Formats: sequence, C-alpha cells, structure tokens
Amino acid sequence: MVIRMRHNRSQSKQRRSHHALEAAPLSTCGHCGAKHRPHHMCRECGYYNGRQVMDLEAAKAQRAARMAAKREAIRGQAESIAPNEAAAVAESKN
Ligand SMILES: [Zn+2]
Repeated sequence: MVIRMRHNRSQSKQRRSHHALEAAPLSTCGHCGAKHRPHHMCRECGYYNGRQVMDLEAAKAQRAARMAAKREAIRGQAESIAPNEAAAVAESKN
C-alpha cells in the first residue's frame, strides 16, 4: 500500500460506523407466547404456523436416554481399563 491510499482515523471510523451488530428481530409464538426467530419453529413448544412440527418432550427424553447410555459406555470402558481407579473415581463422586 502506498501513502496515497492511506486513510486517516476519521475515514476509518466513518467506514466502521456501519459495522455494529443489530439485535435479531423476534416473533411471538401464537401457541405459547414465547419469542422465537421469524420463520422458525418455536423452541419452547415446537409449534410452527399453528401446528406442532416437533415433539420437544420426546426429543428431550431421547437425548437424555442417549446421554445416559453414553455415560454408561464410558464408565464400562474405564472399568475395563483400570478397575480399581474407576471404582475410586465413582466413590469420590458419591
Ligand atoms: Zn411456542
């Protein structure tokens, strides 16, 4: 870059005056009244456009089951590698 192209602080600041982030516009859910992204499913109740598109309770339960299975698998692996150490860790958590 040559001197001819250099901007002064005022010019830089004028350019950056348009860089501020705006808060995302939010819609109100017609089912539960919570705020959600426009044209997106409500994350509180799983409704979109007046009908349920996702059963959030079932999805939550599914996730909990998956996480529990994963925890069990990791615990089993730890016990198979170092049985005494895994028992000590389990005891210290209780
Ligand atoms: Zn809702």
